Amino acid sequence: MVIGAGQAGLSAAYHLRRRGFAPYDGFVVLDADPAPGGAWAHRSPSLRMATVHGFHDLPDFELPTPDPAAAARDVVPGYFAAYEARHALPVVRPVRVRAVRSLEDGRLRVETDQGDWTARALINATGTWTRPFLPHYPGHFAGRQLHYADYRGPQEFAGQRVVVVGGGASAIQVLSEVAEVAQTVWVTRTPPVYHAGPFTPEYGRSVVAKVEERVRQGLPVRSVVSVTGLGPSVAYRRAEELGALNRRPMFDRLTKHGVVWGEEELPVDAIIWATGFRAELTHLAPLGLRGPGGGIRMDGTRAAADPRVHLVGYGPSASTIGANRAGRAAVNEIVRLLGASEPVLI
Ligand code: FAD
Repeated sequence: MVIGAGQAGLSAAYHLRRRGFAPYDGFVVLDADPAPGGAWAHRSPSLRMATVHGFHDLPDFELPTPDPAAAARDVVPGYFAAYEARHALPVVRPVRVRAVRSLEDGRLRVETDQGDWTARALINATGTWTRPFLPHYPGHFAGRQLHYADYRGPQEFAGQRVVVVGGGASAIQVLSEVAEVAQTVWVTRTPPVYHAGPFTPEYGRSVVAKVEERVRQGLPVRSVVSVTGLGPSVAYRRAEELGALNRRPMFDRLTKHGVVWGEEELPVDAIIWATGFRAELTHLAPLGLRGPGGGIRMDGTRAAADPRVHLVGYGPSASTIGANRAGRAAVNEIVRLLGASEPVLI
C-alpha cells in the first residue's frame, strides 16, 4: 500500500510495478486529492516553471521541456496525470487515510474515509503541504495574514505595505512577486543562509547528508529544501533588483495595525508567513513511531521501530530528486521484507 500520489508516491508505485506487484491486486496508491499533481496542484498560480527551484522528472518518462512562463500548478499535475496513465498506476482517489494501526496477525489496517484496507507493508508519501507551519508571536493583528500555502499571487496586495516572514525559497518567490506591486518588508528569525552556487551534485549530497543524520538520530526533521540555502535563482535576482532583500530581524510582537521591534511600530496591511511546513504523519500516530527525540528514527527510508513502514518524500528525500530515489529504495526493502516470491502488498 502506498499513501500519497505526489512525486514520492508515484516513484514508489512505478518501482512496485517494475518488481512485479500487480496494480489493484498487488498494491494500490491511496490519494486524498481529487486529481493528480500532489502539492504542485495547490501552489500559487504565479509560480512559473522558470521560478521553480528545480524539478526532476519521475523515472522512465521525461517531462517535455516546459514553457518557462507556464504555471507549475498546470504543468506538473498534467505530467503526473500522463505518468499515472502511461504506467497504469493504481491510484485510488479521493481517499483520505485517517489512521494506520497494527493488527495482531502482523498486518496493518489502513482506515480511510472510504472504508478500511489491510496491508502487509506501507510506503507513506503524504508530503507536507497539508501541514503549513505558523509560528506564534504575541499580540493580535487585525489586517490580512496568510501562510504561503494560501498565497495566490501578488494582485491582492497592490499598493499595500506587506511583511514577508521566512528565510527560504518560498519567501524569496513571494518577495520577487509582491515587491512588483507593493512595498515589502522582509523579516527572518535567523540570518538567511546563502549559497553562492553552483548547485553541484556534491553540494546536493552534503545537504542531504545533514538532514539524513538528524532523522537517523530520531530528531525532528528539517526539509532538504529548507537547508539548501538561497542561491542565485531567477526569483532571487528579481527580488534583488526590486530592492526587496534588505532583511530585518524578526519582529517582537504584533499589534492591531502592524508589527513591533522594541519601541518601533511599523504599520502594515498584510503579513505573509512563508514559514514552511511539517511532515503530514498524523495518521501514523497509532503506530507509535516517534521516539524520545521528538522525531521518527529512520534507517534509510524504513522507520527504525517498524520495518513494515517506509517514509518517502520525508526528511532527506523531501525533494523531487530525493523522492525518486526514496521510492526505489523503499520498494527494494519491501521486496526483501515480503520475499520476492509473493509480490502482494495489500
Ligand atoms: P506531495 O507532492 O505533497 O504529495 C503528497 C500527496 O499525499 C498529496 O497528493 C496528498 O493529497 C496526499 N495525502 C496527504 N495526506 C494524505 C492522507 N492522509 N491520505 C491520503 N493521501 C494523503 N522540491 C524540488 O525539488 N524543487 C522545488 O522547487 C521545490 N519547491 C518546493 C516548494 C515548497 C513550498 C515545498 C513545500 C516543497 C518544495 N519542494 C521542491 C519539495 C517537493 O515539492 C517535494 O518534496 C516533492 O515534490 C515530493 O513530494 P511528495 O510526493 O513527498 O508530496
